[in-house]
Amino acid sequence: MHFVVLTLFKEMVETIMNTSIMGRALEKGLISLDVIDIRDYAENKHNRVDDYPYGGGAGMVMQAGPVYKACEVARKLIDPDCVSSGNNVNASETDNCAEHKRTRLIYLSPIGRPFTQEVAKELSKEENLIFLCGHYEGIDERALELEADDYISLGDFVLTGGELPAICIMDAVARLVPGVLSNDESASDESFEGNTLEYPQYTRPEEFMGMRVPDVLLSGHHANIRQWRREQSLIRTRDRRPDLFEKVELDKKDKKFLQGLEK
Ligand code: SAM
Repeated sequence: MHFVVLTLFKEMVETIMNTSIMGRALEKGLISLDVIDIRDYAENKHNRVDDYPYGGGAGMVMQAGPVYKACEVARKLIDPDCVSSGNNVNASETDNCAEHKRTRLIYLSPIGRPFTQEVAKELSKEENLIFLCGHYEGIDERALELEADDYISLGDFVLTGGELPAICIMDAVARLVPGVLSNDESASDESFEGNTLEYPQYTRPEEFMGMRVPDVLLSGHHANIRQWRREQSLIRTRDRRPDLFEKVELDKKDKKFLQGLEK
């Protein structure tokens, strides 16, 4: 899995991505990362890439020219034969990449589709992903029309830049790449699998401030442990995320357990 990030703050992306599990995955070559500084494509001697918004209003807008050039450099980095000069709508007429596969370029934006574990799984099937991080009031619409294939939001809130969302998405996607997590850190059996939240976890010591680890987890009885974990997942999901709980496929055992709670 190869990531390319287009940003005005390279250091921010590189520092976080070179840390912990992502850093290990980069070292092992399980994922790779190129970070492109959009400012390198500034079109004036002051290296400015933003200007006042037409129509007035607060803040600055990132100019189309430098963003467009940086996007084209990213596409060429992935596919040297790629000569793109149109947006995804007209890709077949204007985009040499259309003959092979045009790399998905994602603009991080509050107006995008919400990021979820499902979206992470979808993105993990791609070989290459390009992330475009906005700043200030955002990016001139014309560059987005030409380059953005997908718009993704980290949630219904506004951040100062797209770097943190890009890092979050790369983290969630990379941990689905085989080998990135060790067996001890497996991505299976986690929250959102089957629309449930994960059961409570415990480690040593057996007793902490008078609170004991549930006996079943010390029993060594695997079937009972599995059953207890399933039940805890169901309770948590029902109580904390009723929206998810509606989508859980309940089997006979689940239904019996939940009915028992109502008595
Ligand atoms: N004016 C924009 C609006 O109201 O939608 C917000 C711009 S925001 C201050 C600057 C940049 O941060 C955006 O261009 C985007 O790349 C990024 N950003 C902010 N919030 C985000 C979110 N919830 N998800 C993804 N990206 C976000």
